[in-house]
Amino acid sequence: MAKRGNSIIKGLEIDEIIQVLNKAYADEWLAYYQYFIEAKVIKGIMKDAAIAELTQHATDELRHADMLAERILQLGGTPLLNPKDWFAHTNCGYEEPTNFDVVSILNDSIKGEQCAISTYSQLADMTRDKDIVTYDLVSEILADEVEHEEDLQALYDDITEFVTDIKSSLS
Ligand code: FE
Ligand code: FE
Ligand code: MG
Repeated sequence: MAKRGNSIIKGLEIDEIIQVLNKAYADEWLAYYQYFIEAKVIKGIMKDAAIAELTQHATDELRHADMLAERILQLGGTPLLNPKDWFAHTNCGYEEPTNFDVVSILNDSIKGEQCAISTYSQLADMTRDKDIVTYDLVSEILADEVEHEEDLQALYDDITEFVTDIKSSLS
């Protein structure tokens, strides 16, 4: 464990930081798998655009898991070692896709991103002025999650508008 590196943390217990980072780590693995499997099972119009977005987000969530694991180790902690623990520690849970329609899949994913934004915003508030390194890390991830929500919402709006246009042209 980095002694000087950790000595600069002020007003927060390192164990508490490790614990919240492990919760976020569980979220990222579940988000990764959710995007991975959504990109496989998705059906419906403009699904190719959705698959491209979901696949890109899966890559980002896995990168977030990697960033969190590195920081947990740096702090002297251990990233969750068993996938069973992901469900015990997650903040945002897992939206099992039950309806494979593109609109439903995008809806599930938007919910997940909104939860991620709330989580990282809380972590930024918790670490601001106390643990600069973790603060920078969670801020960087937060910016990605904001972009994810925006990308999915834009796609959702395009698809629902397209569907509305088709329906009105048929009536
Ligand atoms: Fe993420
Ligand atoms: Fe995300
Ligand atoms: Mg994107």
